[in-house]
Amino acid sequence: MADLILKAGKEKSLLRRHPWVYDTAVQRVVGKPQPGETVRVLANNGRFLAWAAFSPASTLRARCWSYDEKDVIDDAFIERRLREAIAARAPLFARTNAVRVVFGEADGLPGLIVDQYGDWLVTQFQAAGVEAWRPLIGRVLMEATGARGVFDRSDAATRQREGLEIRAGLLAGEEPPQAIEVVEDGVKYGVDVRVGHKTGFYIDQRESRLTVQRVAEEFRRVHGRGMRALNCFCYTGGFSLALLKGSADEVVSVDSSEEALAMARANAERNDFSGRAEWICEDVFTCLRRLRDAGEHFDLVILDPPKFASSHYHVDRAARAYKDINLNGLKLLEPGGQLFTFSCSGAVDVDLFQKIVAGAVIDSRRNVWAVGRFGAGADHPLLMTCPEGEYLKGMHLAVRP
Ligand code: SAH
Repeated sequence: MADLILKAGKEKSLLRRHPWVYDTAVQRVVGKPQPGETVRVLANNGRFLAWAAFSPASTLRARCWSYDEKDVIDDAFIERRLREAIAARAPLFARTNAVRVVFGEADGLPGLIVDQYGDWLVTQFQAAGVEAWRPLIGRVLMEATGARGVFDRSDAATRQREGLEIRAGLLAGEEPPQAIEVVEDGVKYGVDVRVGHKTGFYIDQRESRLTVQRVAEEFRRVHGRGMRALNCFCYTGGFSLALLKGSADEVVSVDSSEEALAMARANAERNDFSGRAEWICEDVFTCLRRLRDAGEHFDLVILDPPKFASSHYHVDRAARAYKDINLNGLKLLEPGGQLFTFSCSGAVDVDLFQKIVAGAVIDSRRNVWAVGRFGAGADHPLLMTCPEGEYLKGMHLAVRP
């Protein structure tokens, strides 16, 4: 058993149960731990702090499994954590069969993502610690969920920072089909787990999708007609389908990826929504200006762009991009229109995002209310001792008459 001895004063975050040990906090390593091996983390005065997985290549030099010296980090420990994570998601399956069943640090399994799509699971191993338990994790996941197969999408660039190679392929059981069909709040979606973003679907937007579905239904009740909506950065049509399910009259969706739009079209067909859906392959920044110049108006606009800021170095540029789309999105709204606007950049926090959107509102010279706020769903819980886990935020704005 190797020991990681911290510099004096660097024990504070671990005493608050923050799970990361930065390379800069380590004074010395006693022993020769392998990548992923469990080490004992000690304060400079020798006090026990945590059991952690060692990651020599990463600036996150170790990620904690447990702060209790009595714990033993073995197969049974990992199995228990997996089963607890899966059990915590059980209530969600009443609404959907697309659920994140393991969310890394929040589930005490740092770096492990597991998404369930019907009978299949998709994993992402993003840290050396969980990587070392890969075969066991594949086996336990099959047993605990009754899944037919586990497909591994450990191909995120973040793996390189952990010194792990990029890998995608079957981990256990059977190969999943090319499109797995899932049903969420009454809407069918096809998920391609091999090439899709993340593990194939933006599971984290479930609550926002349900809200737009309800908003569209309410619009019809109040106005006696369905809404005309614009969904920007539509990907495979998540929000578009939710709006159509809510009986919108017309949904125009924009994305720059032909592959994503092909899946979106197929998803519309799956639900018999094709007649009310229009798909545009175009850059959103250009498209919003073109629609404005053409005098187009919508009852509702959704802006759910990719992560504009990949780190805090890119926040200024990202802020300009967020402001641009929000301003041009607002300009397309009818009086009484609604804007759903999101950011999934962890480096842009809730306060900053609100300020950026407020800047767009000021420039639009319109009177705007914020009537709702969103984050990721309950299967992406925020571990309160690790605020870095927060990334997705959204606002529901209403343009006053
Ligand atoms: N809203 C989607 C997820 C968005 S992912 C959902 O709920 O499922 C981001 C999407 O933006 C991707 O599909 C990507 O192809 C698209 N994209 C990225 N930059 C773009 C741009 N400048 N113009 C149009 N689409 C863009």
